[in-house]
Amino acid sequence: MSNTSLRSEVLKRRTFAIISHPDAGKTTITEKLLLWGNAIQLAGSVKGKRGPHARSDWMTMEQERGISVTSSVMQFPYKGRVVNLLDTPGHEDFSEDTYRTLTAVDSVLMMIDGAKGVEDRTIKLMEVCRLRDTPILSFINKMDRESRSPVELLDEIETVLKIAASPINWPLGTGKEFKGVYNFYTDTIHVYQQGKGHTIPDDIQIKGLQSDEAAQLLGGYIDDIREEIELVRGATNEFNLEEYLAGRMTPVFFGTALGNFGVREMLDGFVEWAPTPRSRATNEREVAAEEEKFTGFVFKIQANMDPKHRDRIAFMRVCSGTYNQGMKMRHVRIAKDIKIADAVTFMAGDRSAVEEAVAGDIIGLHNHGTIQIGDTFTDGEELKFTGIPHFAPELFRRIRLRDPLKTKQLQKGLQQLAEEGSTQVFFPVDNNDIVVGAVGVLQFEVVAYRLKDEYKVEAIYEPVNVATARWIECDDSKKLEEFKRKCSDNLAVDGGGHLTYLAPTRVNLSLTQERHPDVVFRATREH
Ligand code: GDP
Repeated sequence: MSNTSLRSEVLKRRTFAIISHPDAGKTTITEKLLLWGNAIQLAGSVKGKRGPHARSDWMTMEQERGISVTSSVMQFPYKGRVVNLLDTPGHEDFSEDTYRTLTAVDSVLMMIDGAKGVEDRTIKLMEVCRLRDTPILSFINKMDRESRSPVELLDEIETVLKIAASPINWPLGTGKEFKGVYNFYTDTIHVYQQGKGHTIPDDIQIKGLQSDEAAQLLGGYIDDIREEIELVRGATNEFNLEEYLAGRMTPVFFGTALGNFGVREMLDGFVEWAPTPRSRATNEREVAAEEEKFTGFVFKIQANMDPKHRDRIAFMRVCSGTYNQGMKMRHVRIAKDIKIADAVTFMAGDRSAVEEAVAGDIIGLHNHGTIQIGDTFTDGEELKFTGIPHFAPELFRRIRLRDPLKTKQLQKGLQQLAEEGSTQVFFPVDNNDIVVGAVGVLQFEVVAYRLKDEYKVEAIYEPVNVATARWIECDDSKKLEEFKRKCSDNLAVDGGGHLTYLAPTRVNLSLTQERHPDVVFRATREH
């Protein structure tokens, strides 16, 4: 690709994820976005009804429980842009997977249930976005139901999430009385029609809040609504693109995902304002998205998405340059050039071969065990993307086999699941236990299920006396040896070969830290 066409391709990209509390409507809006992108003709195929692409059993488990542990990538065109939507797991456990996915996007869409307002998980995810000043666009959903007052909702966003909220449009009534939205900037009413959720509804507009048509639409409410809108206009922040891009202001849209209304306005705003692929930090230098030389990093590994292909897929965010089918890339960690013949993308759940990808795009590489989360790929340059951490787990269990002859399979299974980031595994240095660590309790269940389903081993968990883990670093080899000798009871090696301190209590951890001031105890580890 020539320099100018590469640049114009990159500038088309909008790569984002949706953050929300479960049930706010993330799945529903994803379906609608794909409908807008024409990626699928009929919305309804995201949260799979069992269709031609039968899911593996553990995905059935997710469906039964109404959770989504897996995530995938959807690409669709909209208004001359190429939108990449990265799905994140929706279950309540704070998941590392979600965190890492958020390191691979340039902005997020925050979905809020209009009846519930800002909920726990949204608060947590927002904290993660704040670490990187990720720009946030908001959609307040379910206006077709009775909802809380929009003024109160904006206020809650500002006080709870500590970000300036700037309404772009305003709901005209809610629930049965929901008539549409009013855009402050174009002085236009977009009229809601019920029952059009499965279609691309016509955009019925009324120009001017003071018009007769507006009065007709809003009937007896017109005076109240005119007054409310004047008040809100005076009392809220005007949209400021720079503030949004800096992560300090969120433009707010109201609508109903189910009714596919307000989604168009939101998407129009999104492709207009959301950042194009941003530059990324490495250990050496900042890599700009328009650079010609290829770079990318792996943020997620997923197993057996399709039972027909029982391999693992490593998801790579392209950070610069162009991926072409059959190209060679430098796998920096293992210092090898590898040929990538068959990267994939996941258009509406279907695998298709990617021919070309640029910064902002996600490609899936077939992984036979050489790729780990955090790995950097380049066209030869020795650099490593930073900022893709592992969190110290908070929950621990000893794992045992029902059939002790299957130790090999157990180890292999755990190793692979750890590589994917589904769990973390620790091998204590002075006994043969295997300790599994997780950030959320659901991870244990998923791991046991997958060990059985994919590796044919039945494992059981037992309690273990570990409260927290810290990765150990020490520049002074003598002090490190002394530490290892004195603390061997609590030392383990993790799945990546890193020395780890498994503390039985928090008090023990702080005492040990005091006794060994030269040893660094890390709560996160970069891949
Ligand atoms: P997720 O957990 O965030 O993915 O939420 P879903 O998209 O699965 O939505 C949760 C529930 O809310 C489902 O029953 C949806 O049909 C419903 N829902 C989503 N959006 C709307 C909306 O705009 N209006 C109404 N009335 N229901 C909605």
